[in-house]
Amino acid sequence: MSKRKIVIEPDPILRQKSEILEKVDDELRRLMDDMLETMYSAPGIGLAAVQVGILKRLVVIDISKEKEKKHPLFLINPEIISKSKSTSIHEEGCLSLPGQFAEIERPAECQIKYIDYDGKKKEIKAKGLLSTCIQHEIDHLDGKLFIDYLSKLKKDMILKKLVKHKKELNKIVL
Ligand code: ZN
Repeated sequence: MSKRKIVIEPDPILRQKSEILEKVDDELRRLMDDMLETMYSAPGIGLAAVQVGILKRLVVIDISKEKEKKHPLFLINPEIISKSKSTSIHEEGCLSLPGQFAEIERPAECQIKYIDYDGKKKEIKAKGLLSTCIQHEIDHLDGKLFIDYLSKLKKDMILKKLVKHKKELNKIVL
């Protein structure tokens, strides 16, 4: 396994739609392992392939608390089948928007279908943090970020901070 570089907003790739995966093979499993390692070391609870620069419909999630045993979830071609009418609000952050957080309202529960690590078709119902995390990550596959749910004013403020943050990062690299 090896860590990958996380794409930081603003970056046009984060606004592109990811493509459906045709098959689950060892190469894809290697990518999933890399994504998981990248996510754990960040640390984060969810990562979409586009965030490491790969436009494929692939997500890794692990919402288990640090001291518990790890419970990674690999979602290939995840699709929301149904969403609840009731909503919930969670404070969201994103590995591509370092240091930025905002309260976002989303359907409280969702049901999804996906292909798992071994290429098997699966369906799950999610609520609470997992439901929010799944919806946040599937948004990534459609080029959408959590700041898109905010007012233009708040969104522009966050983007301004990120542009500054990226300039600082580049200085360090140079
Ligand atoms: Zn994110």
